[in-house]
Amino acid sequence: MEKKVAVVAIGGNSLIKDNAHQSCQDQYLAAKETAKHIVDMIEAGWEVVIGHGNGPQVGFILQKAEIAEKQAGLSMAPLDVCGAQSQGQIGYMLVQNLQNELKTRGINKPVACVLEQTIVDKNDPAFQHPTKPIGGFMTEEEANIKAESDGWTVVEDAGRGWRRVVASPLPMEIVELDAIKALIQAGIVTISIGGGGIPVIKNEDGSLEGVSAVIDKDFGNSLLARKINADLLLISTAVEKVAINYGTPEQKWLDKMTLDEAKAYLKEGKHFKSGSMAPKIQACIWFLEAGGKQALITNPENIGRALRGETGTMITAA
Ligand code: ADP
Ligand code: MG
Repeated sequence: MEKKVAVVAIGGNSLIKDNAHQSCQDQYLAAKETAKHIVDMIEAGWEVVIGHGNGPQVGFILQKAEIAEKQAGLSMAPLDVCGAQSQGQIGYMLVQNLQNELKTRGINKPVACVLEQTIVDKNDPAFQHPTKPIGGFMTEEEANIKAESDGWTVVEDAGRGWRRVVASPLPMEIVELDAIKALIQAGIVTISIGGGGIPVIKNEDGSLEGVSAVIDKDFGNSLLARKINADLLLISTAVEKVAINYGTPEQKWLDKMTLDEAKAYLKEGKHFKSGSMAPKIQACIWFLEAGGKQALITNPENIGRALRGETGTMITAA
C-alpha cells in the first residue's frame, strides 16, 4: 500500500501561544493541543514527519547561559549545542503528547524523535553578512569583549544596545535523512528538523562540525519534504490563511494559489512579510518546483478542515 506522507512544520505558536504562556508547563499544554490535530491527520490516513521552530526556546537557553556565565562563571554552550538542547526539550514534549493522544484513541503507532543535523555550505554568503540577532542586549564594552574572546559578530541595534548576530545559511543536506526515511517506512510518527536542524558544515575530509548559525525551520522542512518526495508540505502557523496585500486595506485572504501565482506574488515583494510569511511561501515554492504536488498553510486548529478543502491556503503545482 502506498503511504501518503506529510511533512508538518509547526510554528512557534504551536509551542508558545503568547508572551504570558512561556513556561515549560504552558509549552507542554500547547504541544498537547497541537498533538491532537496531528493525531487527527494520522487517523485520516497520513504518515507524518513533524518539524518545529525553536527561536524562543533557544533565546531562553541563551538567556539562562548568559546569567550563569556572569554570576557563576559557567561557560556558555555554543549555538549548535543550544540548538541540540532545544530539539531535545521540544521533541520530548511532542513525543510524549503524541504518545498519550494516540493511546487515548486506541491507535497503536510508535513515535520517535530524531536529533537532526543540517549541513550548510561553509561558503554560504550568509556567513559573510550575519543578520539574525540572537541572545540578550549588551553594552558596547561587553560586546567588544565577546567579539574578542568568542569571535562573536556584534552590532548596535537601533539605539537599544549591542547584540550578537549570526548567519542564517540555506540548508543543503539532512545528515539523518536515511534514518528518517526508515522510520517513515516503518510507520513511526517522526519528529525531526527542529529549528531547521542543528547547523553543521562538512569538512574536506568529510567530517562534520557544528557552526554558530541558525537555519530557517520552513526551509529545513521544505528540504526534507523534497528529499523524501512527500505528498504534502503542511506549514502550521498563527494564521488560518495567507493574504495578499497583507496589512493593507486591499488585504485579501486566499483559498488557493498556483506555483506560478505564488512566485509572482513573492517577486512583487509587498504581499508576504520577510522573516514571517515570505520564507513560508519560498519553502512551498521550492517544494513544488522539485515535483511536490501540494503545500498547505493554515493554523493548528484548522488543519483538519484545511485538509478537507474547507479553509487554509493550498498552493499547487498547476
Ligand atoms: P511561525 O512561528 O509559524 O514561523 P511567523 O510569525 O514567522 O510564524 O509567521 C506567521 C505570521 O506571518 C502570521 O502570524 C502573520 O502575522 C504574518 N504574515 C506576514 N505576511 C502575511 C500574509 N501575507 N498573510 C498572512 N500572514 C502573514
Ligand atoms: Mg517563523
